[in-house]
Amino acid sequence: MKNSIKLLGLLLLISVTFSGLAQTMQDDMEYLASDKLEGREFGSHGALVASKYISKRFKKLGLEPKGTDGYFQELSVKPRYNPHAKVPVDTSKAIIGRNVIGYIDNGAATTVIIGAHYDHLGFGAEGSLYEGDEKLIHNGADDNASGVTVMLQLADWIRGQYPHNNYLFIAFSGEEKGLWGSSWFTKNPTIDLATINYMINMDMVGRLDAEKNLAVYGTGTSPIWHSLIEGIGKDQGFIVKYHPGGIGPSDHTSFYLKDMPVLHFFTGQHADYHKPSDDFDKINYDGMIEVQSFIESVIAQVDSKGKIEFIKTKDEDSKKAPKYSVTLGVIPDYMYDGKGMLISGVKEGRAADKAGIINGDIVIKMGDVEVRDMMAYMEALGKFKKGDKVKVIVKRGEEKVEVEVEF
Ligand SMILES: [Zn+2]
Repeated sequence: MKNSIKLLGLLLLISVTFSGLAQTMQDDMEYLASDKLEGREFGSHGALVASKYISKRFKKLGLEPKGTDGYFQELSVKPRYNPHAKVPVDTSKAIIGRNVIGYIDNGAATTVIIGAHYDHLGFGAEGSLYEGDEKLIHNGADDNASGVTVMLQLADWIRGQYPHNNYLFIAFSGEEKGLWGSSWFTKNPTIDLATINYMINMDMVGRLDAEKNLAVYGTGTSPIWHSLIEGIGKDQGFIVKYHPGGIGPSDHTSFYLKDMPVLHFFTGQHADYHKPSDDFDKINYDGMIEVQSFIESVIAQVDSKGKIEFIKTKDEDSKKAPKYSVTLGVIPDYMYDGKGMLISGVKEGRAADKAGIINGDIVIKMGDVEVRDMMAYMEALGKFKKGDKVKVIVKRGEEKVEVEVEF
């Protein structure tokens, strides 16, 4: 009797703890991705409200303020002229935004940075893939309320543990504009950059699929990363997609460029990417907890290793990579590792769309080039110019379909 009461109590405690955790995650997510914040565009009122919310959460979690004004670090950026912008950008005056920075000081010699951007596209600024005429809020639940939410949970989990490092949590703004917040921080750091051990970034971690496919970028930026990630992936049942390069599509790039080991986590591309439909009802909360425990395992296993070694990755040359004068107007599925290039989105009215290519098609040949993978696809694109008519073969289910694309 007594034992069963104890057991019941324990079960109750567990369920309360778990639902408490999930509730907090859900609270953070649903607030950050709510219409009230109007898509959190850099410099907007919505982004300001978001930054206040994050600073309150940092305070509640007991993090020390580590910005230039409490938790905030203001940045002021003059947008550059962009010939591709749908709406002309005023390049004459600077826009003000802010990073939000909190700190766990363990009195250690080295500090780990854990970051996630909180800004998004507002009502569909530059970068939106939405084609409709009506102005709609881009809530950016996966991109990147998910990363901020997991970062807040990590701050809670890490406190009081892993004492051989200090931890600096940064919610970046201006990522969508071109890594503004992270690049500002690395140029105007609020701690000595020489003491930074490594940086962990999360951008779009809210859509873990049933097979638990997880992309990890930067695995080549320290000699310890690959085997460590491989081990954790196996233990926790993930299918890890390794991207060794330190230069990638999010804020870790700014830190890599300052010669720091980085890891960037991403649960994969989807049809709602950069559209108003990236909403919180599509978020996989259990998946976010799984990503979080993956990252916590990284932090735990590195804790006693001292300052880890940095290595430069080959993608240094990527700046010299060919500039494409043409595009198909599709969103590739970066997680796909079968033969060809899988399309996860087709932009309306662009070359692929006009040729009849649809979502889910796998491009296997363009002109004379066999498209084995993403690299081959990009090489093939480099060969064409505007006005070219090119035969493209796609796999659609079991069928092979040939279309003519005009660039
Ligand atoms: Zn993002």
